[in-house]
Amino acid sequence: MRVLFATSEAYPLIKTGGLADVSGALPKALNNLAEFDGDIKILLPGYQAVLEKLRDVSPVATIEVLGQTCTLLMGKMPDSDTDVIAIQNTQLYERNGGPYSDKHGVEWLDNALRFGVLSRAASLLCSKHSPLQSWQPDLIQCNDWQTALAPAYMKLIDFSSTKSILSLHNLAFQGNFDVSWLKALELPIENFQISGFEYHGQISFLKAGLFYADKLSTVSPTYAHEIQTETFGFGLQGLLQIRKDDLTGILNGIDAEEWSPEKDSSLIKNYSASDLSGKAAVKKALQEQLGLHVDADAPLLGVVSRLTHQKGLDLLPKIMPQLIAQGCQFAILGSGDKALEASFNDLAQKTPAQVSMTIGYNEHLSHNIMAGCDMFVMPSRFEPCGLNQLYGLAYGTPPIVNATGGLADSVCDTNETTLNNDTATGFVMKSVSSASLLVTIEHALTIWKNKALWQRIQRNGMQQDIGWGSSAKAYLKLYEKTLSGH
Ligand code: ADP
Repeated sequence: MRVLFATSEAYPLIKTGGLADVSGALPKALNNLAEFDGDIKILLPGYQAVLEKLRDVSPVATIEVLGQTCTLLMGKMPDSDTDVIAIQNTQLYERNGGPYSDKHGVEWLDNALRFGVLSRAASLLCSKHSPLQSWQPDLIQCNDWQTALAPAYMKLIDFSSTKSILSLHNLAFQGNFDVSWLKALELPIENFQISGFEYHGQISFLKAGLFYADKLSTVSPTYAHEIQTETFGFGLQGLLQIRKDDLTGILNGIDAEEWSPEKDSSLIKNYSASDLSGKAAVKKALQEQLGLHVDADAPLLGVVSRLTHQKGLDLLPKIMPQLIAQGCQFAILGSGDKALEASFNDLAQKTPAQVSMTIGYNEHLSHNIMAGCDMFVMPSRFEPCGLNQLYGLAYGTPPIVNATGGLADSVCDTNETTLNNDTATGFVMKSVSSASLLVTIEHALTIWKNKALWQRIQRNGMQQDIGWGSSAKAYLKLYEKTLSGH
């Protein structure tokens, strides 16, 4: 089974969020699966960081897509033997900034072309005209809008026999562009219609994928249901309802080589479910590093997140003064909404011994917050899967979450029954409001004071099987189903 895994980011080459974690971990997990007798290659743009980090690189072909001359570079991931094909085009991808926007956060104006080229190249590699004749994929897995135009090119232009899956990591990002891009994207005008890639008068990359891909998947079973409703469907719920028999929800796993308290090299001390003592040392070091009052008895709450409406963290500043008065400390890392950044900063300035706000992206600090905190706060309004709550479970840092998407599928609320049968792993809000978040955090604080009970919740989470193994098996089943046409 030859699989082309098309994506716009993959950790550790380049990362802006959960998509990179999945793109880095899933191909590796499939390669480690005894049942997977296949060959999977990641296809992604040759951003500067990718070119710097790829191993054993050599050029294998030159292609001309959408009027752009690109070199295909074949190499390997820095941390595994997973094959990578990077599309090198200096003008399109080697820029001073992120994959989607410049260093001020302004989206690149030619993203339609940049990801049109990625999608078009993916389709070409699945066609008779592929320059890699000896490697024809049986299946392509596309991920999010950036590669979602590939199934349209495959069906409308290349008439490819390769089967396609579109995986949805977040429906909020759709890649909708002005119709004036039609010509540059070399899309047939007759398919610019409801039964095609048109969406409210625009060209929609994501809609194209939803319409033309053979199968659809998303990153949790609950999100697979939610996106068929008006509240979570971002206008695409109708099409998702039509395609519901082709839609599967598979919960992400975590990469245990990157995220394990037993092996994590970012921590000053490692620890495990059977010996949690190292966690106290990490908490102390974190408090010192962030300038918080060093106190083992002060409950330390962590946040690592993009600061956007989705993540619900705007619910937090309002209730922080009450929690600060109860002795809580906060270690916050993230960036995004400027007003929210300012609210957290304000609280940090007023109470530096109890609140730390780090604006930016910091992989090392994120691991230390995950390990050193007592609880992790993630009140997302919607959450396709969410990885941070999974990291919280693995690190003995029970997550406090809203009951949505992957959060609902991975965190079991603490109550008398779940405590008694050892299934409690975290704390689940009853509704999306500051009041509900406060009640839920206060419930967690009450239990936290009972160390024996708290350790049971920590161990329940840490002992759960949340590695990629079983998720990779579920993807393999989906691949087999897609190939058999069922
Ligand atoms: P999303 O992809 O919606 O941002 P996820 O929870 O699925 O949310 O994944 C987020 C990933 O990005 C996690 O690996 C998380 O640790 C990481 N992350 C988010 N913000 C930051 C940050 N400011 N610094 C370091 N890592 C971050």
